[in-house]
This record gives sequence, structure tokens and C-alpha cells, in this order.
Amino acid sequence: MSEPVSQNDGYEVFAEKKEECGLFGIFGDPGAVQKTYFALHALQHRGQESAGIASSNGDCIQCYKGMGTVMRVFRSGSDTLDKLANPIAIGHVRYSTCGSSNVDNSQPLLAEYSRGQVAVAHNGNLINASLLRDEYEAYGSIFKSTCDTEIIVHLLAKPTHQSKPDPLGHVLNHLQGAYSLVFLFSDHIEAARDPFGIRPLCIGRTDDGHYCVASETCAIDAIGAKVIREIEPGEIVRLDKNGLHSRFFIRRGSITPAHCIFEHVYFSKQNSYIFGENVHEFRKKLGRQLAKEHPADADVVIPVPDSGTSAAVGYAAQSGIPFDMGLVRSHYVGRTFISPDQKLRELEVKLKLAIVHEVVRGKRIVVVDDSIVRGTTTRGKIRTLREAGAKEIHMRVSCPPIRFPCYYGVDFPTKEELLANGRTLEQIREFLEVDSVGYLSLEGMLSCAAMPKDHYCTACWAGKYPIPVDIILNKFSMERYQLYMFGEFATAHE
Ligand code: SF4
Repeated sequence: MSEPVSQNDGYEVFAEKKEECGLFGIFGDPGAVQKTYFALHALQHRGQESAGIASSNGDCIQCYKGMGTVMRVFRSGSDTLDKLANPIAIGHVRYSTCGSSNVDNSQPLLAEYSRGQVAVAHNGNLINASLLRDEYEAYGSIFKSTCDTEIIVHLLAKPTHQSKPDPLGHVLNHLQGAYSLVFLFSDHIEAARDPFGIRPLCIGRTDDGHYCVASETCAIDAIGAKVIREIEPGEIVRLDKNGLHSRFFIRRGSITPAHCIFEHVYFSKQNSYIFGENVHEFRKKLGRQLAKEHPADADVVIPVPDSGTSAAVGYAAQSGIPFDMGLVRSHYVGRTFISPDQKLRELEVKLKLAIVHEVVRGKRIVVVDDSIVRGTTTRGKIRTLREAGAKEIHMRVSCPPIRFPCYYGVDFPTKEELLANGRTLEQIREFLEVDSVGYLSLEGMLSCAAMPKDHYCTACWAGKYPIPVDIILNKFSMERYQLYMFGEFATAHE
């Protein structure tokens, strides 16, 4: 079973794969900070470890951030949002995929350099950040955080980069990996997406004509604005007093995109539109395809809520087996405890995922989940379903077996810890203690997608990385100093 994550107001604390940050920015709106706050709520599923908002009055940037969910950081009754009230704002919710979960690594990162102030918020992982940092440290640069994002500020501040016609575009060309970025300068916002478009980023406009950008369309909906379009891979959009301006830092269309299809399978919210289609509809298609590939003789289809729900709807529709809610997730249980005791941990699972006995008892059930990472959490759920009297359990998974780690901004465990790594399907079935197991094929998954098959990253299933990863990175690659000075930290992170 995976460890609970940090402070949490009722979001998934047993997820085996963790979200990977959410961004928002809005220009020129008198309610910019309040809208950023609402937008961050809508993006909360992308990260619950820390949250922050930076705003500008046109001259000066202020920033407030802290550990925990948006609600926890910007407590109701506090006057933080009032103090930040300015017409230009960006915000960030974080799940740490590079660097520890601490306030130094929380975002937006605020810095001052020769051209003034800049605040930056990042979704993704830079695979060359460690190398770039070594280079800058060798020349005396001092870093305040251990996350990859800070290197971008150093690159931006470098005088030879500042002298370029488009300093930001020039800097982005130094970065390798996945990055959707939002920058707040004192009088404008710039938002950019990496040349492969790995993470989503889109543009919206309020009824009053104020432009905004967000990781997902659900955040644009949440502030009552209209979605305009996605930011294209390799594109920078600038929001300023003259409106929205677009430019490209690579030759437009020169690189085949590699959109993270896991965004569709698990990360993004069901009501969002990403990579040109609605997430819920996409997941239903996955469920339909799964039913075609792996039918089951069963009485009821139940989802592992919430991420497996859309696929289970599709599976039930295709198979003709009734859909029902045999598992009910509690969204109100916050952080409870981290117990080394197996019995207490099992109780904690039950507290967060309750069984509707009437749906399960004496039935042959198909359990649909979006994915399986380590498998220990899934096995825990299966055991509780058995205890509740399920006669047969047929596990169905709406993506292929995950066999490889992600280096582009998703915190998967190491290859060795992945359930499907080195195991046959029969060994997986035995491990999960189910009567049958069926994974959606890679071909089947890609057949559900709107874009051409080669426009998606599928590296965690197929092992083919669109951006070569020369150095094996881990989340704490840039925490070598701490590891040196305080040996006990090394074990704490492992
Ligand atoms: S490796 Fe998997 S999770 Fe990572 S970007 Fe590619 S598809 Fe997404």
C-alpha cells in the first residue's frame, strides 16, 4: 500500500501515482486573485502538497504560498487574498515530482534579476535540470530550492541570454523534458508549452475580455470564462494590456507531439478537454474497448472511484452488464495517520473506500480501475471485496500494464517496484488475488484517441521515451547536499 501523501483535505491519499502540478494565470482582471483562487480549487486534483498565488499591480509582484491544499493555505477568514488583490495573477498547486515537498520548493517561485521581478509556475519535469544546475553552480550561482524549476530563472537572468531578441524563447530552447510554464512579470504574463506538448495548457477569456491560461479547461470553466484553445507545443503566449500575442520558440510543427496519454487515463479531471477531447468521453471509450478485449461473465460492473468510474460506465455499456457503485470513496477524510502497522493501514483503506455490501455480496463482479502501479493498493481493495462476500472478482484495467518509470513529471515508483515489471499476466493475477485480470492493449488504448497514434507519449507502457533520458533521474536528484550533510535524510527519502 502506498504511503499517504502530505496534508490533505479529503483528496486521494492512497494514490499509487501522483498528480503533477496545476497552473493558472489571468491578466488585467480586477478579480484576478479571487479567480486564481477558484481556478486552483478546480485544479486541486493535480497537486495537494502546496499551493501559491503571485500577483502584480503592474509594478511590483507579491507572492503567498504554503504547504497543503488551496483551502488550507488560503484559509477562509484570513485576509491573504485581500492583501494579494491585484489585477494580474498566477497560481500553482504542487505535487512534488522533483525536490522534496517543502515550502522552499513550493511555487510560484519568486525571484529578482536585472530586469525586475519574475514569478514562475511549472508543471512537468526538466530532465537536464541537474546538469544545468551543476554548470551554474560551478560558476558560483546559489540556488534557494531543490526543484528543477529554479534553473529557468537562472537561465533567464544570464546577461548573454537577456541580450537575445527573445530572451524567454532563447531560454526555453535550453530546456529538455516536459514543461508547461506560466511566468508573471510585473506588467505581463507569459505562458509556454514544451515542443512535445507533454503536459496540457490552454487559453480562456472572461466575458469582460480578460485572458487567462490554465493547465486544464476545468479551471477556465470554474471562473466562468470561455475556453479559446490549447497553447500549441513550442508556443509562447503573452498576455498584456494589448491582449494576447502568440509566438513560437521552435519552428511551428517541426516536432511530432508526445502528449502524455496518462493525462486522459488518470490525471485530468473528467470535465476537462485536453488534447482536443473530453476526458470523461475518452475514458468511456477506453472502457468500451476494454470490454471488447476482455469480456467477463459477471453480474455487476463496479468502478474503483473516482478515476475508474468513467471507464466502468463504458465497460458496462459495451458488455450489457449492469453498472453499480460497490465502492464508495469518502472525500471528507483528511490526513489520518501514517502507521507501520498493517492492520491499522487496512482500516485506513476501509475508512476512505467503503463497500456497499448489497452490491457486492454473493455477486460475480467486474472491478474497473484506470491503472495499476505497485498493485498493493489494488490488492487491498480486492481483499475487502472478498471479505464483503464477492463470489468472483474479475479485475479490468483501462490501460496497458505499466512497466517503465516516467521522467516527464509523474511520480511513479522505480521500475523494480512496478507490479507488471517482470511478471506474467498469470503472476499478476495471483498477486492481486483475483479470478481473472485483463489490461487494455496499447493498440486498443490508442485507437480511442482523437489524434494520430504517434502524437502521444506511451513510454511508461512501451518504454520508448520521446525525449531520450541519458541520466537516470529520481525525485531527489538535486538534494545531494542534504544527503551528504545529513545521512539520515537519505533514508527518509528512499
Ligand atoms: S511516461 Fe507515461 S506518464 Fe510519463 S509522460 Fe509518458 S505517458 Fe505520461
